[in-house]
Amino acid sequence: MDHDLQGLDTGSYNFEYQCVDTELHDAVHKNPTFVGARVPFHILVTKLTREEGISVCKLHNLPIPKRRLAGEIRAALEAHDCQIHDNLVSLWRFFPGEVEKAPKVERKSRNEKVPFSDAYRSDQQERKFRDLDTARFKRRLATGRLPNTEFPPNPLEVKDVHRISRGVAAQFDPRKFEEAGCAVCGCLTEKTKLTKLEDFKPSLDLLKVPGVTRQERFSITDDVRELDGPVLASGCEHVCVSCEDALAQNKIPKLALANSCWIGDIPPQLQGLKYAE
Ligand SMILES: [Zn+2]
Ligand SMILES: [Zn+2]
Ligand SMILES: [Zn+2]
Repeated sequence: MDHDLQGLDTGSYNFEYQCVDTELHDAVHKNPTFVGARVPFHILVTKLTREEGISVCKLHNLPIPKRRLAGEIRAALEAHDCQIHDNLVSLWRFFPGEVEKAPKVERKSRNEKVPFSDAYRSDQQERKFRDLDTARFKRRLATGRLPNTEFPPNPLEVKDVHRISRGVAAQFDPRKFEEAGCAVCGCLTEKTKLTKLEDFKPSLDLLKVPGVTRQERFSITDDVRELDGPVLASGCEHVCVSCEDALAQNKIPKLALANSCWIGDIPPQLQGLKYAE
């Protein structure tokens, strides 16, 4: 042959297939990266993958093991005495450059514990996750919104400080935690859960219950009288959510003052008592 074989020692070879030596010349000319070699069969056998082993079995008229296990195929090939097929040549594809060893995949032993998420993530899911990640990365690349991957990260910019402090201020807005009394039940409730009495739609006539309230008497001779109108806490201008719901269903709220819970305004002398008093 007239081929330039220089440089063929720095590189790696991958088995392609075997062919009859008369076909070798054509095959090498069709594929310039192919190299033909008459590798002794017992050495060739040790270099084959499972799939390659099966194709070599077919070529040598060997029975292919039923379960097609790599070990069985290897055993079948090793048992074969290939003196009769001395016209066969192996074709190898040449990869120039330094031989790069594939990273060794660590086989987990059967007893070794595998993390739950790893063990139950199928190949299909794995592929899906990878595709998702790739899509996300491409989208970010297209919109120029790639996260800053430099380390250490830059100090905060003024606009970031503003954004963060605005967020904190929004969290601590007085409107978020101010409380007021509900006129119907007298409970102290967050203002975000209160409706103004004037905006309140359902009628308050339900709360006009006789026999619950008393007007203040200043002497024994004063008549015993009730307050006019619905039973409401004086000084309160809101209704809480639960009272509103009950009234909308035409029911007196369970905790309503009109439900015999009214005791009237606390006199100033009794307000702000200490625990002992
Ligand atoms: Zn040639
Ligand atoms: Zn053979
Ligand atoms: Zn209420």
